Amino acid sequence: METLAEPKAAPTLQTLPGDDVRQWMWRFADRYELHLLVQAARGVARGPVARLVAAGGRNSHDWTAAKAALLQHFDESGLTAAALDPEFGGYIPGPKNFALALAAFELSWVDAGAATCSLAGNLGLAPIHERGTLEQRTKYVANAAPLKPGENRQQVRAAFALTEPLPFVGVETGMLAGKVRVVEWPEGGEPKLQVDKRGRFITNMGFANVVTAAVDSDDPRIKGSCMVILEESDPGVWDRGTATKKLVHQLSSTTDPVFNLTVPAHRIVGGYTVKDGVIIPNYSHSEIIEAVFRRTRVTVGLMTAAKLLSAVEPVILYQRRRFRGGQGAPGTPRYELGIQQKEDALHRLVDIWATGEASASLGFAAARLFDELDPLEKDKDRILAEKNLTGRAILREMGLKQQKALELLRLASLPETGCDAQQLQELEADPLVRYALLDAQANVLCPACKLWNTGHGANMMREAVSLMGGYGVTEDCPGFLGQKWMDAQLEATYEGPEAVQRLQLSVTMTNELFLAQFRQWIVGLKRIASARPGSGACALATAMQLWSWTLNHVQHATDADGVKLFHKTRQGVTFPLADALCWLLAARQFILDVGELEKQTEVPALDESLAGTIQFFNQLCHVQCARAAGEVSRICTEIVFGYNRHPAWDEASCQACYCAEELESLEGIIPGIDGSARVCSDVSEAGEPHAVKAGPCVKFTGLESYLRLRTKLDGCLTGFRLAKDGAAEALTKVMTREALDYPV
Ligand SMILES: Cc1cc2nc3c(=O)[nH]c(=O)nc-3n(C[C@H](O)[C@H](O)[C@H](O)COP(=O)(O)OP(=O)(O)OC[C@H]3O[C@@H](n4cnc5c(N)ncnc54)[C@H](O)[C@@H]3O)c2cc1C
Repeated sequence: METLAEPKAAPTLQTLPGDDVRQWMWRFADRYELHLLVQAARGVARGPVARLVAAGGRNSHDWTAAKAALLQHFDESGLTAAALDPEFGGYIPGPKNFALALAAFELSWVDAGAATCSLAGNLGLAPIHERGTLEQRTKYVANAAPLKPGENRQQVRAAFALTEPLPFVGVETGMLAGKVRVVEWPEGGEPKLQVDKRGRFITNMGFANVVTAAVDSDDPRIKGSCMVILEESDPGVWDRGTATKKLVHQLSSTTDPVFNLTVPAHRIVGGYTVKDGVIIPNYSHSEIIEAVFRRTRVTVGLMTAAKLLSAVEPVILYQRRRFRGGQGAPGTPRYELGIQQKEDALHRLVDIWATGEASASLGFAAARLFDELDPLEKDKDRILAEKNLTGRAILREMGLKQQKALELLRLASLPETGCDAQQLQELEADPLVRYALLDAQANVLCPACKLWNTGHGANMMREAVSLMGGYGVTEDCPGFLGQKWMDAQLEATYEGPEAVQRLQLSVTMTNELFLAQFRQWIVGLKRIASARPGSGACALATAMQLWSWTLNHVQHATDADGVKLFHKTRQGVTFPLADALCWLLAARQFILDVGELEKQTEVPALDESLAGTIQFFNQLCHVQCARAAGEVSRICTEIVFGYNRHPAWDEASCQACYCAEELESLEGIIPGIDGSARVCSDVSEAGEPHAVKAGPCVKFTGLESYLRLRTKLDGCLTGFRLAKDGAAEALTKVMTREALDYPV
């Protein structure tokens, strides 16, 4: 007799994602030095850092001995040296953006103040690392390496001083009160400079012995602004200032220092030349901070991502145990699932998890991109120097390369038969073309990750806190979620608050080369949508089209008063569009990372549990894409319609209009409309003629395509709530540990 085979159960999430899953998703499975770095950072985070937080170490503003002891842990675990090149005592060759992003992620899993403390030293040295002379790098970067046994030198601990007391530098980095002047310039010798700088909110100042300070010239013998290296032993005033009364990141040191020091001119970061008796710094302070922040901001974005993902396990543990009092017995749903019996609590946790995944994916993608870009940037500088190009000539050359990059994208999108393979190869091999392509992406991904991960991340941390009930707002909350919520707000603020990122995005997102790549990404997502229909890629691709349509529309449209819509002063248009873009980029990167995971299913031992993880992650992708699509749709519609007074758009071509019933309902609300208006029949989505009444035709020019896209987008949300239900159910079954692996 034939027996029927047992129906195979759908794969489900078995355990919380482990290191193997993360290594594949974030593409560092083959980098063993990074596996070791992750373990080292985790050991420090879940050991001494967690113990210090649990012991109330955050309850003081001062730089205490217990906090200072963390520096030694950073040194001994290899975290400090991870930022250094091997010739300066480090052990990771090549660019280190991704490595430092991983370290920050691990530390922030427990406490982002500790992460900031570790990373602020790198920020202090970053001006020297990015733009310093060889002598400066050798002296300061090499001396930042922890002391080896038997070594007798002072280890450099650096701070970065840009922000000044009110009303000077903050978001507006050009308003420098800090000054530099020449105090002595011996005939044929090196000038001595007087540096007068007051800082506000300067991290690491409780213990730093080297500061890179942004100052402006207060002397006709110095041109423009620059950054200067200050040492604690320089003659003059080195006042660390009082500790900032922070509500956040208390494991890092922050003060308002005062410096008035005399330093030799070779301390100008990147060096200088002398022309006609004037010192001309090789780099202005803004050129240096641009090079620094575009890398370090990505790391900050990952701090908030880590918080969200770290919230998942404590919330699950809390929810499952919540109803174990009273009558419930083991084995009953009430006892085993607790709050997890309630759909809303599960759905909210799904949202938090999906946001955490998308923000981690975006952040790590940005960090990897900078690792790819760094050597290309060096190549670019070398090639331009070999061609003796400076100033405007560089802009011209890079403008040409931008055109070539656009041509490369065009050729690459043609079918093989239609494209000139040799030309394509030549363009691909040109490092300046490659640089132009990646630079256009990096200029968007960096601010997007800083803005969305931290800003929206802070909102979602509040959701996480709320799921822990009253416990969430206590110091005893498992996973320190209350502190993490508040900390996320600092991450949204320092290294340039959200307004700074939106300002930058409003410029970089309109770069033709970025937009050309963005259009290719839409095509890529549509392909993914056909292979992985449950991933939300279809909704995302349509939302990306809607965003493109809207950007293009506002770049050419005016408001009801004839004023241009897309303008740098019109932040009500540019900023929301920047926000909308971030939602899209984060969700896309999450989909790509899950695709990366799917490539691993060939490993038989992992097959079953991995299949469950992939199934769950696809559901999370779907949830995140639908949420992104909803956000983008809302923002775009507000902008497209919100700047017009009904109904007086261009009357020349009638492409969209109201149906008769709508007109009747709008009577009196929109000037000029009454229920007797004649309505065109050529726009009926259903293809049926509208009722035609006597009266003027009500017309919207060019909006039909927008409305069609929006309607399509609504349809693309098909199945999204089922995906959310599926992910929610997985949360009730996934295996967790009995307790967190760090103290509470
Ligand atoms: C704990 C901590 C550590 C820090 N560490 C350092 C450090 O190590 N080194 C350092 O140099 N700085 C540091 N900072 C300073 C930090 O980078 C600044 O606080 C931040 O860049 C914002 O500057 P601000 O506080 O002066 O805000 P403001 O410039 O006063 O801006 C306030 C708000 O006004 C709005 N706004 C301002 N300008 C615009 C605009 N153009 N368009 C639209 N809206 C706008 C935005 O909402 C903005 O958030 C730290 C700050 C803190 C709190």
